[in-house]
Formats: sequence, structure tokens, C-alpha cells
Amino acid sequence: MKIAIIGAGPAGIFTSLFLKDFDGEISLFEQNNDIGEKLKLTGGGRMNVTNKIFSAKEFSSENLNLLKNLFKSPWIKKREELFAELGVKYKWEGDRAILESGNALKEVERLNMLLQEQKNLRVETACKVMAVKTLEDGKFLIGFQNDDAVKEEIFDIVILCGGGMFRIKDLGDLKKIYKLPLELGHSVTNLRPSLSSLFISNNPLAEFSGVVFKGKLTDPVNKKSASGEILATHQGLSGPAVLDFSSMIESKHIELAFISEIDEETFSKEFQKMRNGNETVKTLLHKFLSNRICDYLLKISALDPEIKIAMTSKENLKKLQKNLFHLELRNVDVMDYSFAWTTKGGIPLKEINVATLESRLHKNLYFAGEILDVNGLCGGYNISFATISAKIVSESIL
Ligand SMILES: Cc1cc2nc3c(=O)[nH]c(=O)nc-3n(C[C@H](O)[C@H](O)[C@H](O)COP(=O)(O)OP(=O)(O)OC[C@H]3O[C@@H](n4cnc5c(N)ncnc54)[C@H](O)[C@@H]3O)c2cc1C
Repeated sequence: MKIAIIGAGPAGIFTSLFLKDFDGEISLFEQNNDIGEKLKLTGGGRMNVTNKIFSAKEFSSENLNLLKNLFKSPWIKKREELFAELGVKYKWEGDRAILESGNALKEVERLNMLLQEQKNLRVETACKVMAVKTLEDGKFLIGFQNDDAVKEEIFDIVILCGGGMFRIKDLGDLKKIYKLPLELGHSVTNLRPSLSSLFISNNPLAEFSGVVFKGKLTDPVNKKSASGEILATHQGLSGPAVLDFSSMIESKHIELAFISEIDEETFSKEFQKMRNGNETVKTLLHKFLSNRICDYLLKISALDPEIKIAMTSKENLKKLQKNLFHLELRNVDVMDYSFAWTTKGGIPLKEINVATLESRLHKNLYFAGEILDVNGLCGGYNISFATISAKIVSESIL
């Protein structure tokens, strides 16, 4: 029996490793010169491996019912066992697990060594799979380009692990990226860049670019929101909460709260309590925010930087609170694929058996990782999904 795995990102690498006991030949094809090109960049080079908070709620898909069924896999809960099996060592930083070595490059080197040592595996890098065709006997004919020569080979099982739009080498037409599954009769859901910074035209926040704060972003139409660390940039906003929010946003106009640790009511009560004192508004704001953001908020609320709380009218307080908790940002866009960590969308879950990840159109055709319409938030969700899906596929094959 021969298996072809197409794409050596985490999904393809881990599927290969989980198949170490497969009694047959496995070929892992990667178009780049090295395996795991994207994996090397993850988590700013430290790789967010997984997260303590982990359920279907942290993922999106066009088919939420099938996503929930997929999340019934026992490997969702037992994902730490999978990392142990792969030898991926990590440490916890709050809810996130990051590589113990903090070095994604070294980790990819380690994984490469494991692949090279695996007896039943051949790794073909700088080798792009150009076509996968089904044959009458149910096998697959694969055409691939290697050293400028186009070769063909027959396989019994094919696992598509081509990831999403982000390509070190190949940022082309959307549908071209999904050429192999499309030619096999599969479809692709709506696609869009996700886990990306936000671009704001005529960015009003540019004057405090470089400042990080804990805030909240809300899409007023679909009511979805994300809170946490936000970084003001020249072009707009970035940081973990912004990346998460980019996977939810549907509107052009959004709302920003500069504070996420307390709500508007608590702030208002705090404000009223200090009415009899000698404190300035800026002193209160400064409890939560950096100097530059305080100055900005006072400016846009048309308040004197030295104004005392006792001297602030109800109207002024209302204006300040609106800017502090509901600042409207207009003409906001998710940055394009070259900036996005992931692609939202992919092969629809209705076209696969979610218990095995085998295609419903072709026996012995499987999918793992980001190529599927399963898109996680920022913080270890996507690598975890690549790992879990790799295990589901390899278990069903074994
Ligand atoms: C900057 C950045 C930081 C990130 N940080 C994190 C993080 O910390 N934690 C986290 O969980 N996720 C993170 N992600 C997301 C995560 O990297 C991806 O979700 C994950 O790599 C998807 O794995 P995959 O194997 O499905 O696809 P990919 O990693 O995209 O791998 C697919 C591979 O298939 C190859 N390929 C495609 N088509 C062909 C073909 N026809 N022939 C041969 N080869 C082909 C591609 O070249 C590619 O190497 C980050 C992403 C980026 C860009």
C-alpha cells in the first residue's frame, strides 16, 4: 500500500509521524525547499502549541453542527497526549502553551530529523504536486514537478494537507491554491484572510501607535467581540485580541473600548465616588491607560487635560465614556493574505466524514489541517487542530 501526503506543514508532518507503524510506503510532498516553512514563523518564532481553553467555540466554520460533531473526537480532550507522542515539549504561559525551547526553527529541525529517520517514509521537498487524478480501480495518479521534470506515480491513499492561502512561494489566485481538491470534485467555502491586523483608513489612532492596551473590539452588527491585548499601529490595530476579532468581523464600522477589565457602569461609579475629591480626570484614566491614550481621549472628548473630576459636567462625562467604551472606528478592513496567519474557510465539512476526515466523494482521500473549513482563534488553536486532524486521519487509515 502506498500513501501520498501533500503538504509538509504541521498537518502533513504530524500525519506522517503518526503513521510510523504503517506497513507500506509513505511519500510526503512539499513544494517549498524545506518542510514547515510557516510553522517556523508561528507565535513570533516561539510557536503557540495549544491552549487550556479548547472547544468548538474557539473555532469557526460554515457548518457549526458538523464542527461540533468533529469536536466529539476523543483527541480534542487528549491533545496533550498527541504532543507527548510527537515529542513536542512546551511550557504554559497563562492559558497558552508555547514551545519549551521558545525556538520554532529548532523544533522544525527536530521534526525533520524524525521524518528522515522514519523507515516507511520518503520526504520530497521542492516538489510541487500538480495534479491528483482518480483511476478506475480507485487508486490515485499523482503528477508532481521535481527538478524541472514532471513525474507520475500511483498511490492507494491520498491525504491533502495543503493548508490555506499563506504561501512562502505561492501567493496566487484563490482558487488555484485549492486546485487539487477542486479538480477532484470538491468545493471550497467562501474564503477570507483571518487572524490578521486591521487596517483603518485615515487611522485616528496613529498618534499613539506603538502603545499596547487591554481593550475590546465589537462588531455592532453581528454583536461579536474580542478582548485582550491590542497594539495601536500606524495603519490600524494589531495584537492578539485584534487577530481574534479579524476572524469575526463582518462590518466596516466597529467599536473600540479602551478598557476591558471594568465595564462602563463600574467606571461611572468610580467617577462619581471621586467627585468630592481633588483628583483630575486624567488621574482616573491613568489607572487603566497609558499617558498617550489618556491625552488622546481627553483631546477627542474636548476636555482640558487638567480638568478635575469635581468640575466635569454630566455631558462631559457622557462624552468621555462614549469615547472610552464605544469609540467608533470607520472604514476598517482585515489586511490581505500576505499578513494573515490563517485562511478562514476551506473544504466544506459536509463533503467529508467528520469522524474519519475521509472525503465523501472518494474513498481513500483524506484531509487534515487548515485546508478544511475549520478556523481557530489565535493562541495555539490552529496547530492543535492540525495535530488532532492528523491523528484522526492516521488512526482511520491504520
Ligand atoms: C506568522 C504566523 C504565525 C502563526 N502562529 C501560530 C501559532 O503560534 N499557533 C497556531 O496554532 N497557529 C499559528 N499560525 C497558524 C498555523 O501556522 C497554521 O494554521 C498551520 O501551519 C496550518 O497547518 P497546515 O499543515 O494545515 O498548513 P500549512 O502550514 O500552510 O502547510 C501546508 C503546506 O502544504 C504545502 N503545499 C500546498 N500545496 C502543495 C502542493 N500542491 N504540492 C506540494 N506542497 C504543497 C505548502 O507549501 C505548505 O508548506 C500562524 C501562522 C502564521 C502565518
